[in-house]
Amino acid sequence: MHRIGLTGGIASGKSLAAEILANQGARILDADLIARELVAPGHPNVHQIGQYLGPQYLCGQTLNRELLRQRIFADPTAKAWLEQLLHPQIRAELLRQSSLLEGEEPVIWVVPLLVEGNYQKLLDGVLLIDAPVWLQRERLRLRGWDLATAGRVIAQQSHAEERRKIATWIIPNLQSPAELSKRLQHWWKSLR
Ligand code: ATP
Repeated sequence: MHRIGLTGGIASGKSLAAEILANQGARILDADLIARELVAPGHPNVHQIGQYLGPQYLCGQTLNRELLRQRIFADPTAKAWLEQLLHPQIRAELLRQSSLLEGEEPVIWVVPLLVEGNYQKLLDGVLLIDAPVWLQRERLRLRGWDLATAGRVIAQQSHAEERRKIATWIIPNLQSPAELSKRLQHWWKSLR
């Protein structure tokens, strides 16, 4: 069975692409969902985060996700520490869930930080949903973000060229959702 990564910068259209592929019958595993489970209340990771970053990030057994987000945003060392804690666990869980799936159909891992976490070594191919920075900013603005925050988050992610370098397939998402859907259906058929 093939493992295919689906990635792209923030607000590039990964979730929409995953939804379209799921409607085509693709089996989708979501790294963000797993990451959330790995810091669910009471999980040992929560305790470890409190020990390393400070008790102010915990409320009992629950992580203050908003405060943590602010720290990670401002502190590259804390960000690197959290990533080295979680990425290996996310990778292991994605492998475990993939191994439970039967059949020859590919399974698609949706991984926003695929390049940053070096997931490509576990994958047979990577599909990049590619949107230019101006459009990422515009989609974030529509989500209610201010432009400065959008710019900072985009700048913190790996650059578009790095994603393109490791991509097996690149689907631009510049036009309508219907156009994205058409391109993805074509890609999905050619894959199988
Ligand atoms: P994140 O990195 O934040 O998880 P994402 O890459 O999963 O984002 P989506 O949530 O799929 O991106 O898309 C971001 C926003 O842009 C959503 O509101 C989505 O509906 C919209 N969008 C995505 N593609 C298109 C398109 N081709 N035309 C119009 N709107 C789009």
